[in-house]
Amino acid sequence: MSPRDRIATTTIVMRALRSGLRATGLAVAAAALLAPGVVAQERPAPTHDEVAPGVHVFRTAPYGPVGLDGNSVVVVGDDAVLVFDTNGTPSAAAAVLAGIRALTDAPVRWVVLSHWHWDHWYGTEIYRRAFPDVQVIAHEKTAAMMRGPAIEFNRPGLEQQLPAFIASLERRLVAGEAAGSPPEDLVSLRAMVADSRFFLEQKASADLVLPDVTFRERLELDVGGRRVEVLNFGRAVTPGDALLRLPSEGVVVTGDLVIQPVTFALSVYPTEWIAALERLDALDARILIPGHGPAMRDEEHLHATLGALREVRRLGGAAHARGLEPDAAREEMMPDLHDAMVRVTGGDAEVNRAFEQQLVDWYLHRLWEEFEGPLSDTVIAGIPSR
Ligand SMILES: [Zn+2]
Repeated sequence: MSPRDRIATTTIVMRALRSGLRATGLAVAAAALLAPGVVAQERPAPTHDEVAPGVHVFRTAPYGPVGLDGNSVVVVGDDAVLVFDTNGTPSAAAAVLAGIRALTDAPVRWVVLSHWHWDHWYGTEIYRRAFPDVQVIAHEKTAAMMRGPAIEFNRPGLEQQLPAFIASLERRLVAGEAAGSPPEDLVSLRAMVADSRFFLEQKASADLVLPDVTFRERLELDVGGRRVEVLNFGRAVTPGDALLRLPSEGVVVTGDLVIQPVTFALSVYPTEWIAALERLDALDARILIPGHGPAMRDEEHLHATLGALREVRRLGGAAHARGLEPDAAREEMMPDLHDAMVRVTGGDAEVNRAFEQQLVDWYLHRLWEEFEGPLSDTVIAGIPSR
């Protein structure tokens, strides 16, 4: 992934998190946003990478400037298929399912949802419709989030921020057309409008399918002759993150516990996340599949992320003890974090900025909440404003 792609991805993830979610009667409102004759851009097919025999990572293109999908990981057994995460929209899940059909005739018997963020589970309806007997599995705390708090958290984004953003794009387009802007600018603006409208329409009309099987620490499945473990290592990025492990293949699917290029520390459980990453590290995976970004064939990025978080945690603890606030602590520690940061980011200036905001700043704000603790399983912290 080029630095530009990396920063584009992080920017989009940030906006996607900000824009929130909610499935309501907004389908009607969203449809009304689609002006007659304006059709959402044709979506490119997901890319797909077989990282181990029968283990496929499907990745999709972002929805212009407003959203993206988490990785969808498919485990194909002799007579059954498991899907880990169902993307952020029914349209993306349908495209991944088309990709699965090209690989096997076996039915999808299990869907595992990694956590409650909307880029990982909004396409579940596609699998329920195609395979009515499919079991939808999530951690019990994730299921609880999906039943309420996650929906409320995303409501403002879906009902206000995203429509307002689209309206502002449309005003720019109209003004650009009137002013005779360069044709290439108008083409890209039209594409952004189409992508954004499509994303909103998909989110607003998604028929959310809640988990029907929950687990607490561990669940073992026989996926058509393949042993698959569904694991939770305690609170980490969310109250109930699910990981997938294929012991025979040495594959671990991390969900958003690890993201390429920079992991997101929004509303995380700072100290418990580090402990969960240590347990993940102890699995000694040969192949790590992150929540976003390409699969990794070594543990360098995991170790770099873990090292950076430990350092932020240590320096943050000392700063808190001296009575500093998170913003002052961040300013003070950034020079000391330089080497740890570059191990994560490769030194790219824009990825460094993403690291400072999404990993250091958000982590520190959450760490201060942890010090004042205890952190709730259901209250979602807002995005710190700087
Ligand atoms: Zn995600």
